[in-house]
Amino acid sequence: MKAIYPGSFDPITYGHVDIIKRAACMFDELIVVIMINEEKTPLFSTEERLEMLKETVGDIPHVTIQASKGLTVDFAHREGASVIIRGIRAVMDYEYELQQSTVNMMLADDIETVFLLAKPMYSFLSSSSAKTVAYHQGDLSRFVPDNIAKRLKEKLHQQ
Ligand code: ADP
Repeated sequence: MKAIYPGSFDPITYGHVDIIKRAACMFDELIVVIMINEEKTPLFSTEERLEMLKETVGDIPHVTIQASKGLTVDFAHREGASVIIRGIRAVMDYEYELQQSTVNMMLADDIETVFLLAKPMYSFLSSSSAKTVAYHQGDLSRFVPDNIAKRLKEKLHQQ
């Protein structure tokens, strides 16, 4: 069975890496897909986020990386995937995810959303908290892998 794990990954954190490793064990194939949302202004370009995902999780067996525009369910259909993976950290995520997955159910009833609970050690972790810590020159070692910490520092230095 094929699954997709959509997100912004701006940038990828240890929380995302954990979900990717766990989901890769559950499915024959997992496509990690950057969904390009024109309403949001990401810190990193799509190309940079693709590079960072490849550097960080590109070697995990059964995992491939892509970027896509449009609806997540349309991407899943094009790829022949029947499962969407999402991570849940807290009640706040649940409300948003419930809304998104219900919309997806209305659009495509052949696709299931599977939620993986964040490990407690990562439940505080988000791309935006990593960006805030980086902005204030804090210790990123528990947030993102070293290659991502380096890129975050370079990016914020450029700005
Ligand atoms: P989006 O903009 O689609 O929410 P994100 O890149 O922020 O994209 O997150 C992608 C998915 O990963 C979401 O389902 C989110 O809840 C989940 N996620 C984010 N951070 C973590 C974490 N620390 N642990 C587990 N899941 C997470």
